[in-house]
Amino acid sequence: MKLTFDEGVESFREEFLRWLAEHRPSESEMTGDPVLSSAHVPTWAQRWSRRMFDDGWLVPGWPPERGGRNAGPIETLVYSEELARAHIPRTTNPQGLGIIAPSIFDYGTEAQVRDYAMPILRGERSACLGMSEPGAGSDLAALSTRAVLDGDRFVINGQKVWTSGANYAGFCFLFCRTDTTVAKHKGISVVLVEMDTPGITVRPLPEIVDPEHPDLNEVFFADVVVPRENLVGELNNGWAMAGGSLAHERGMVWLSGVLGLEEDVARLLAEAPASLEALPTAERAVVTDRIVGCYIDSVAARCLGYRGFAKLMRGGTAPEQALMKAFSSESAQRLNLVASEMVGDRSVDVGPSVPHTDRGGAWMQRYFHTFAGTISAGSSEIQRNIIAERVLGLPRA
Ligand SMILES: Cc1cc2nc3c(=O)[nH]c(=O)nc-3n(C[C@H](O)[C@H](O)[C@H](O)COP(=O)(O)OP(=O)(O)OC[C@H]3O[C@@H](n4cnc5c(N)ncnc54)[C@H](O)[C@@H]3O)c2cc1C
Repeated sequence: MKLTFDEGVESFREEFLRWLAEHRPSESEMTGDPVLSSAHVPTWAQRWSRRMFDDGWLVPGWPPERGGRNAGPIETLVYSEELARAHIPRTTNPQGLGIIAPSIFDYGTEAQVRDYAMPILRGERSACLGMSEPGAGSDLAALSTRAVLDGDRFVINGQKVWTSGANYAGFCFLFCRTDTTVAKHKGISVVLVEMDTPGITVRPLPEIVDPEHPDLNEVFFADVVVPRENLVGELNNGWAMAGGSLAHERGMVWLSGVLGLEEDVARLLAEAPASLEALPTAERAVVTDRIVGCYIDSVAARCLGYRGFAKLMRGGTAPEQALMKAFSSESAQRLNLVASEMVGDRSVDVGPSVPHTDRGGAWMQRYFHTFAGTISAGSSEIQRNIIAERVLGLPRA
């Protein structure tokens, strides 16, 4: 087993770090104009996206005309790690760049690529992902928001929920039911909907961890008229796109899960000596044991991530993605609880509200936030179903 990178990869890293040092947004720019939701693109982020796009560092694995440099997967891994280490977001609209733009490239028309996908890459537009509904989350195929074709336009009625960033997004990648007479997964289509179209109401859902800066929303559609040309791909082919969209999403998830966990471990280890000293001896031993468990989890997550990554590079499939998603999000949850218990009442010392900072904040606040990680992009239970069926080969329940 080789756990180092070869010279070519190291020189790629150096080139990126040199570029990053010269062009990165400053801390004061980022804190002075904070990101208010996952589709809010502050002025500094618009400039930053454009710079990365122009210099081929936005998605290194893509071709230059799409903001990349045809880099290989290992280079992309190194790039992502360095960006995370520098605490700089690649984008402030992760659903747009990570899921929606790639899906439009896969299925959209030339005009949709020009008017919707490319502007996301250049930091000019942001988008939200309209999949979940009150009666359709894990079971997405049950969605009931209707898009009725009426000549050269769709008329849309229904409701979405948990739509991240809908309160700031320019458009929505909307999954709708376009045929009610066939099996439920066969009658779904995707349309691109401008969020300022008459008939759309966005109602933010304040979260317990940061009620002042809501990111999740309910979105209501009442007779919303959308031109037929905004249909992405074939009519009633939305289910294939749902699989594709989620695959893009899961592709993003493992590395950010590992990096987040490692960062949490570093913070826990930094705070541990002072907190442990204050504990009675017997309790100290128990808490120390739990801290070591958290460290072991983070190492295991990285190894598991590398294993799945190596399989994907060899052209295979990697069911480890499902394992990784469940393991890293649940490990983060365990760690934040261990840390909260370790520091006692200081864990609720939340301080002033800072929008959308995953890494700072009081331990208890962060612990609450970890529940989002075990639900979004497929809940832990759904990941366990995937592991049971595709990894262990167990029969379907
Ligand atoms: C932070 C965050 C951001 C999100 N962003 C978006 C977004 O931008 N766009 C969007 O469309 N959605 C978004 N979602 C919604 C997310 O996709 C759903 O919450 C998720 O798919 C689960 O659906 P649900 O909430 O309806 O729960 P349900 O599907 O109703 O599940 C309820 C419970 O039952 C369990 N369960 C359900 N089915 C099974 C089964 N077959 N076997 C075993 N257990 C099962 C689930 O694991 C869960 O514990 C987001 C969610 C979160 C937390």
